[in-house]
Amino acid sequence: MSYASHLRCRECGRCYPLEPVHACEFCFGPLEVDYDYRAIGRAISRRRIESGPLTVWRYSDLLPADSEQAVDIGAGFTPLLPAQNLGEALGLCRLYIKNDCANPTWSFKDRVVTVASTKAREFGFDTLACASTGNLANAVAAHAARAGMKALVFIPADLEQGKVVGSAVYGPTLVAVKGSYDDANRLCSELTDRYPWAFVNINIRPYYAEGSKTLAYEVVEQLGWRAPDHCIVPMASGCLLTKVWKGIKELAWLGLVDWAHTRMSGAQAEGCSPIVQAWERHSFNVRPVRPNTIAKSLAVGNPADGYYALKVLADSGGSAVAVSDDEVVEGIKLLAETEGIFAETAGGVVIAGLRQLVAQGRIQPDELVVAFITGAGLKTQEAVLDRLVPCLVIEPHLASFEEAIAEHREAVAAGRQTNQGESHG
Ligand SMILES: *Cc1c(COP(=O)(O)O)cnc(C)c1O
Ligand SMILES: [Zn+2]
Repeated sequence: MSYASHLRCRECGRCYPLEPVHACEFCFGPLEVDYDYRAIGRAISRRRIESGPLTVWRYSDLLPADSEQAVDIGAGFTPLLPAQNLGEALGLCRLYIKNDCANPTWSFKDRVVTVASTKAREFGFDTLACASTGNLANAVAAHAARAGMKALVFIPADLEQGKVVGSAVYGPTLVAVKGSYDDANRLCSELTDRYPWAFVNINIRPYYAEGSKTLAYEVVEQLGWRAPDHCIVPMASGCLLTKVWKGIKELAWLGLVDWAHTRMSGAQAEGCSPIVQAWERHSFNVRPVRPNTIAKSLAVGNPADGYYALKVLADSGGSAVAVSDDEVVEGIKLLAETEGIFAETAGGVVIAGLRQLVAQGRIQPDELVVAFITGAGLKTQEAVLDRLVPCLVIEPHLASFEEAIAEHREAVAAGRQTNQGESHG
């Protein structure tokens, strides 16, 4: 049983029963799940959470679906790692990485889809669908397979191979739309009205979005029940950022953590930064853009939650940054070389964005900072492929190896001399 009580319009406050609907009939505002927090407050405790399963379902009291019937392939409870090496490189002494590469389909989207697919099955749907920039497609295809549901997944036709294969392997109907994510999403909105399918990010969106809160719950629990001073989160539609904030606030309302005035900052790639552009104009009015960036998982030109993300940035005292594609690749390399974590392009956006925020003085050196790494790098190999040192190719003999390694060392030494002052190699 879930403590979700109804859906509420974020604009006019009208309430709706818990059904597969996502927009207010009166003002077209987005609907959000509301809960019986009094009942939750009586039931929940740190201890109860700590004795739960090692998945997002340990927080089922704060999720809008029945955990007993969960479509569960093990999403959540990913590592929170102190990042001393990266912290030193960036000038931060209390930096943590929340590593959501460690999810079943290697991105944070498993969190939202385990909730959405559970709810869709509760509603009686037999088909799980989505419009996706790639990671959502992977998570929907995998959870549908587990649930015994049909899967129908729409992606832009120019997606990275790792994301295409990472969906196709689970056997969905995979539709490549010749256009952007925003084109695919618009098509799916039309299909939602016409067919009885559960589009996780359209008609099931209110439930889906709640899954993102689990990132906040985990970080707070893994820090020993304290809230970070500063979170830095990648933004596509802006949903994740708003839900991490909601998650921290809920724990504070429920008395599970002291209210710590966590500041929320968001990062985008310059080639698709409608939320950051609005932030820099001091406006809450997001103007849609045509995406052009290697950070394809974040390439949402018309972000559904852009307005709400801007509110969270402003209300929490955070900031927004955009980084170039070159900085994205440098961010991926820096995280990999300092902490042993191979993130996808969205992770590069976060690390490069963090570097900027520290340089601008928007994050202080002694703040407890959590950087959210939301997806794994093997899915976006294209981004780094031509920036890596090629391997030494040798014959299977000692002499061949020693010749090659000597040449290699000379080349590295020569490289050092030309890049004077740089410390890597
Ligand atoms: C979807 C996604 C996000 C953020 O998505 P929102 O639409 O802002 O919630 C961040 N990182 C990765 C890797 C993603 O796939
Ligand atoms: Zn309304």
